[in-house]
Amino acid sequence: MAKLELRHLRKTFHDNGRTTPAIADVTLAAEPGEFICLIGPSGSGKSTVFNMITGLLHPDQGEIVLDGTVINGQAGHVGYMPQRDLLLPWRSVLDNVILGPEIAHKPLAAARARARELLPMFGLEAFANAYPATLSGGMRQRAALLRTFLCERDVILLDEPFGALDALTRRDMQRWLLDVWTQFKPTILFITHDVQEAVTLGDRVFVFTARPGQIKQEMRIDLPRPRRESDEAFIRLQAALLRALEASGQ
Ligand code: ADP
Repeated sequence: MAKLELRHLRKTFHDNGRTTPAIADVTLAAEPGEFICLIGPSGSGKSTVFNMITGLLHPDQGEIVLDGTVINGQAGHVGYMPQRDLLLPWRSVLDNVILGPEIAHKPLAAARARARELLPMFGLEAFANAYPATLSGGMRQRAALLRTFLCERDVILLDEPFGALDALTRRDMQRWLLDVWTQFKPTILFITHDVQEAVTLGDRVFVFTARPGQIKQEMRIDLPRPRRESDEAFIRLQAALLRALEASGQ
C-alpha cells in the first residue's frame, strides 16, 4: 500500500473578488520510505499542495490518503518544514527543536533527552543552548529539520529547505539530509526549483505545469547513491529534467 496518496487534488483561491486557480489536478502516490521531489515553475501550486497535506487548507476536490485513510483537512499527521525556518528567536536551539512534542503535550523531559541524542547527528551538539541569531544559515536549517524530525511522523514535507543557502553549504546539506533519511527512512516530499538538487536527492521527480498546477511528467532517478554530478547518467537525467521544466513554462 502507498504511504501517501494525493488523488485528483484541485484548489482555487477566492480573494477579494479575485479567483486564482492554483491546482488543477494533482495525483501521485508515495511509497513508504520514498524520497520524492516536486519541481515546477514558481506559483505552480507546490506549496498549496503541502498546505493541503498538512490540513491547513481544504482541497476543493480530491483526497489526501495516508496509510489508506482519507485525512482531508486534518492537522498533525505529517512533519512539515515551511520555506522560512521559523525558529523562535527568544528560544535556545534545544527549546526550539522540542516545539512539536511541546505543542502536542508530550512529556518534555523525554523530548529534551531525545533531542540531545540527535543533536550530534544534526551538527548541533555544541549549540544546544545557543540562540538562532548566532547560528549560520546551514545550522538554522539543520535545527529546523531536527524540529521537524522530532515530531516523529513518518511522512515529512520539506519546502525548498536549502533554497537560501550558498552552493557549497547546499551540497553539504544535501549529502547530510540523505544520511539522515537513510538512517530513519521517512517518506519525504521535497519541493525544489533546482534540477541538480532533484537528481541528487530524489527516487522520483514530479514536474508541475505552470499555474494551475498539474503533474506534467514523472521521472524515476534510477542511480545508486551517493550520486556524482559528473557521471554521464546524472548529466543525461539532469538535462532531461531541465527540458521538461522548460516545456512546463518555467
Ligand atoms: P509554488 O509553491 O509552486 O510557488 P504556491 O502554492 O505558493 O506556488 O501558489 C500557487 C498560486 O496560488 C499562486 O498564484 C499564489 O499567488 C496563489 N495563492 C497561494 N496561496 C494563496 C492564498 N492564500 N490566497 C490567494 N492566492 C493564493
